[in-house]
Amino acid sequence: MHDEPAQKIWQHTCEKYLKSYIGDIGYQSFFLQLEPQLRGQRDFLLFAPNPIVYSFVKKYEETIKDSLEKSSQIAFDLEILVKSEAAHPSLMPAPTPDSVKATALNPSYTFDNFVVGQTNSFAHAACVAVAEQLGGKEFNPLFIFGGSGLGKTHLMQAIGNHVHTKHPDKRIIYVQSEKFVNEFIQVIATKRYDAFRNKYRHVDLLLIDDIQFIEKKEQMQEEFFHTFNTIYESGKNIVLTCDKPPASLQTLQERLKTRISSGITVDIAPPEYETRMAILKRLADSRGIRLQADVMDYIASHITSNIRELEGAFKTLMATCLLGIELNLENCKNALKDLVQPVVKKKLSPSFVMTMVSNYFHISVDEILSRKRKKEIILARHVAMYLCYELMHMTYSDIGRSFGDLNHSTVMHAVRKIEGSLSEDASLQEDLQLLKKSLQPAP
Ligand code: ADP
Ligand code: MG
Repeated sequence: MHDEPAQKIWQHTCEKYLKSYIGDIGYQSFFLQLEPQLRGQRDFLLFAPNPIVYSFVKKYEETIKDSLEKSSQIAFDLEILVKSEAAHPSLMPAPTPDSVKATALNPSYTFDNFVVGQTNSFAHAACVAVAEQLGGKEFNPLFIFGGSGLGKTHLMQAIGNHVHTKHPDKRIIYVQSEKFVNEFIQVIATKRYDAFRNKYRHVDLLLIDDIQFIEKKEQMQEEFFHTFNTIYESGKNIVLTCDKPPASLQTLQERLKTRISSGITVDIAPPEYETRMAILKRLADSRGIRLQADVMDYIASHITSNIRELEGAFKTLMATCLLGIELNLENCKNALKDLVQPVVKKKLSPSFVMTMVSNYFHISVDEILSRKRKKEIILARHVAMYLCYELMHMTYSDIGRSFGDLNHSTVMHAVRKIEGSLSEDASLQEDLQLLKKSLQPAP
């Protein structure tokens, strides 16, 4: 993972102190291969690509630590690691006896530091309900979906951390579905099914992140279905996250879809301005930094689609600040220019349109994609198709494909219907105006 603030601090430290101290050859062959990363406020991690680089660099640990402190004025705790040992370093806190039962939970993702706004409040409430009432049936399984960087992993881990604090004896497993799939591939190769099943089927809470990775993996789905049933039937909880609604998961076995939809599905949409401001404020407070109002407004107005990017912008400013540059609006604009540009140019997609429309009308994306004939659902569906037609100039057939295989004439009918109503329906005009604005924010 590219961590820009860490990179800046590291570069500065190398240029100013380490390069001359280590000497050209050592520096070029070993130090340049290190990947820096900040964890929390005080941990500075350096990842070596292999054990050889590691053992060379490790000998300079004290010198590196001193140099980091001199160049940044922060007494970091330095950790040097080999990269493969830590595929997801931020998700693997050093194991303490206390965290043995909760596999791979990151203690920094909690409900306390999750900012609740309009677009994630439902998801948040469902997660709190699961965490508070483990073993409850209504929210089992809980399926959370939404675009990247919107807080799915954070919420999912917050459930795990909450349960772990309340019931340290409960067995909790958090796993990225990519890892789950890889583990399973190993199992097939070595035929050690029992260990795998023992691990995943005897849990009180199973958290599987980014389930879209099991799309198209038939045998994995089969195994997952049985894991799922065992856990579900013994009254234990399952939480899944995904980048799309269950209905759009291609080649997912029907019986698995049915199982998933027997619980509750919640979505998270991109945050509104107020939530973006609240998140920035929280980030700044946690680091004891005061950001000027115009700087906060600039960031919240320009980085709109994703909280991970918002955090990235904040970290970049923090690094700027550490280098002694004043955080006025001009300097901030300059520091953020690379981050802001891609967002402004960001392309619309049918799923982004659906998410925004679903959020606006308080109807789930699943319902938009369904064949349900309720009046409000039909309206949201038609509006979403109309916006794809208007803003993205998609053909009727392409729109149809994105909306769960509707045919060309159904889409045409929907678009004409909206066009027809627009001339006489002022409230629809206003809806569309607001939606267009949120889909195409002014640069
Ligand atoms: P996703 O899993 O949906 O891709 P993450 O959960 O990894 O997104 O969130 C990206 C980053 O944004 C994380 O650092 C997370 O802590 C932060 N984040 C997301 N939503 C919120 C929120 N509502 N309040 C505070 N931080 C958030
Ligand atoms: Mg995630």
